[in-house]
Amino acid sequence: MKLHGTMEINAAGHLVIGGCDTVDLAQEFGTPLYIMDEELIRLTCREYYRSFTGKYGNSEVIYASKTFSTLAMCHMVKEEGLGLDVVSGGELYTALEAKFPPQHIYFHGNNKTPAELEFAIEAKVGRIVVDNYRELELLNALAAEHGRVVDVLVRVAPGVEAHTHEYIQTGQIDSKFGFTVSTGDALKAVQMVTEAANLEFQGLHCHIGSQIFELDSYRHTARVMMELGAEIREKTGAVVRELNLGGGFGIYYVAGDTPAKISDYADLVMGTVSDLAASYSLPMPKVIVEPGRSIAGPAGTTLYTIGSSKDIPGVRKYVAVDGGMADNPRPALYQSRYEAVLANRASEAPEEVVSITGKCCESGDMLIWDIDLPRVNSGDLLAVLCTGAYNYSMSSNYNRLPRPAVVLVKDGEADVIVERETYDDLVRNDLIPERLLRSRSLRVAGR
Ligand SMILES: *Cc1c(COP(=O)(O)O)cnc(C)c1O
Repeated sequence: MKLHGTMEINAAGHLVIGGCDTVDLAQEFGTPLYIMDEELIRLTCREYYRSFTGKYGNSEVIYASKTFSTLAMCHMVKEEGLGLDVVSGGELYTALEAKFPPQHIYFHGNNKTPAELEFAIEAKVGRIVVDNYRELELLNALAAEHGRVVDVLVRVAPGVEAHTHEYIQTGQIDSKFGFTVSTGDALKAVQMVTEAANLEFQGLHCHIGSQIFELDSYRHTARVMMELGAEIREKTGAVVRELNLGGGFGIYYVAGDTPAKISDYADLVMGTVSDLAASYSLPMPKVIVEPGRSIAGPAGTTLYTIGSSKDIPGVRKYVAVDGGMADNPRPALYQSRYEAVLANRASEAPEEVVSITGKCCESGDMLIWDIDLPRVNSGDLLAVLCTGAYNYSMSSNYNRLPRPAVVLVKDGEADVIVERETYDDLVRNDLIPERLLRSRSLRVAGR
């Protein structure tokens, strides 16, 4: 098990994050509780900034806000000098409410609605990443209506699909995102953008996958993209001024996960693009990367209270916590794995192998299969580690569970950045149509 960021275990054997004893946090804020380590978020943002923009100048690191999008998070990312990527009107709204400078916002997505595109045009976001032909025409028409010329990147599918430890090159990648390079659609789309009166072609964008450990995937992708850049210049005369290589940098969840160093990632990407620019006699583009998971993931911990357990001798012992797939659907969605620590007895040696399940009415509601823990009692606190990315942002109200609060911890201070939902919140948008109430009273009356 690996402790992340500011985590430590105090003399009482309690897990401490950001100088806050998690036993106290549970008492004060209740469980389940998402805890975000401010120092780790900021340190990672700074390492990205230093490794790319600080060292190489013409580059930008933008945080993929879908990972964990809240007002406080957008605010911290802004303070650390990163840009922001959004994929919906809701994420854009969140960024704008946090006073994120719109010129540093990139808007992605494979099916942006006309209303979302208009919202982005009116907000004057820095770049809209055009994903498909329908959007290209729609955006050009909407920009014309608003009397604007919109800066765009063209999203392409480079035919590289990265997995944790390798990448797969397929002639024609099977993906819903972007214009395919190998079919000629990417080139055609760029041509169309350069001819569209209200769109300004700024460059290319791609994203090859997530939880990537093998940096060579990025080298290979940069090569495909720069080759495309050379072809674009030859056939259309357009210049790729910006090259956005997406996110995907992998993190440690469990033993065996071996993340690369951010500075190595930066050196490899910047070096490769610069070499290729020289060999194709292309101007060096501004390079953009979009980390999400690697900024928010390790900074997050979910704290649960253990309730019931069920021992099936010779088969398995289930230990249930007061949350589950509603606050973390990732294990059910894609067999994600996590480490955990008994937060109120963190220095005790493991004694048994158990499986951690949630409280949802779903057999698939599992958080961790087979983890070594001390013998647990109901009332103990379980901290599941590395839950900062795609947990809160993917959470649901399944079984009408209110979403947990999120607290931001630093130097012994804990502040709520998202309030715990209440039962009232759950029914806030529910309505009973007058018609239902009427028919019921008629039925009763006629009985
Ligand atoms: C999801 C996504 C990211 C972030 O990916 P991580 O694996 O969280 O770093 C960046 N860019 C695009 C276009 C994405 O879809």
